[in-house]
Amino acid sequence: MGLKELKERVLESNLDLKRNNLVISTWGNVSGYDEETGLVVIKASGVKYSEMGIEHMIVVDLDGNVIEGEYAPSTDTPTHLVIYKAFKDKGIKGVVHTHSQYATMWAQSGNGLPCLGTTHSDYFYGEIPVTRLMTSQEINCNYEENTGKVILETMEGLDCRRMSAVLVRSHGPFVWGDRQKKQLQIVWCWNI
Ligand SMILES: [Zn+2]
Repeated sequence: MGLKELKERVLESNLDLKRNNLVISTWGNVSGYDEETGLVVIKASGVKYSEMGIEHMIVVDLDGNVIEGEYAPSTDTPTHLVIYKAFKDKGIKGVVHTHSQYATMWAQSGNGLPCLGTTHSDYFYGEIPVTRLMTSQEINCNYEENTGKVILETMEGLDCRRMSAVLVRSHGPFVWGDRQKKQLQIVWCWNI
């Protein structure tokens, strides 16, 4: 799959967030990683879903430099990049972040999400972990990159292919996988 096709798939996946009521306003984002070029496609910052087009799919390298696109990438891009850098060699090619209502409420409770049903167990091995509270310094300086780091800290000792999500405490879910569509299925599970 080339970058052009990846942009189309990432666009459709972002639009699916809105179609499935997983986001409000311009929040939430889906990105995709291209193994051949080592580049990431993510939606532009602050674009309304109703107006989103292929031109709003921004190509960045793993250091966050914009390679293609006229707009600034999503403000959450540093979080996505931390996840790709850590997990790409294990086949992770897509990251989804939403503020889906129930997952966000649960994240605000500060608890991991225990496996209480069959749908959860179809996608995850055990309890979905929640991150620790971030410090004031982590929040006030490079919050998005620090969010990625605290996700990795939470994943220490866990296999990112068997546990493909973390709840960021007081924020919401970040989910990853080998392709975008699968993550969307996962995120939908959290909103029914
Ligand atoms: Zn968010």
